[in-house]
Amino acid sequence: MNPEPETSVIRGSCLCGAVRFEITGPGAHLTYCHCSRCRKQAGAFSAVVMVRREDFRLLSGADQIRRYIPETPWRHARAFCGVCGSSLGEPSDDQEMFPIACSALDDDPGLRPVLHLHAASKPAWYEITDGVKQVPSDYQG
Ligand SMILES: [Zn+2]
Ligand SMILES: [Zn+2]
Repeated sequence: MNPEPETSVIRGSCLCGAVRFEITGPGAHLTYCHCSRCRKQAGAFSAVVMVRREDFRLLSGADQIRRYIPETPWRHARAFCGVCGSSLGEPSDDQEMFPIACSALDDDPGLRPVLHLHAASKPAWYEITDGVKQVPSDYQG
């Protein structure tokens, strides 16, 4: 039985459609991250929504998800689709809250960005032009 999704359900999927998920609760907040890791994985920067584990449900593609664990102090596994390479964020079986890549969302999460994290690590060729608060941070991992 698959009931019709309620309006509060935020659907997500990767580019090829192998990985599909739902977020059923309200996300905590939406942030941009300009760290070097996000730049390399996501293009220029990543936009992520923080999600409680109990609100995240993987619908398909568990066997397609690959994980990369960086050799840095920040060792949370970056998840991506093994077929199309789409970033999925850091869905986790043991963290109570984790970031999910907004690029994979199919629905409007109803949140707007509140922070530019690691803004000091952004590339010179990218200029932040919105009024969203910037947190420089000196972490270069
Ligand atoms: Zn895919
Ligand atoms: Zn980052």
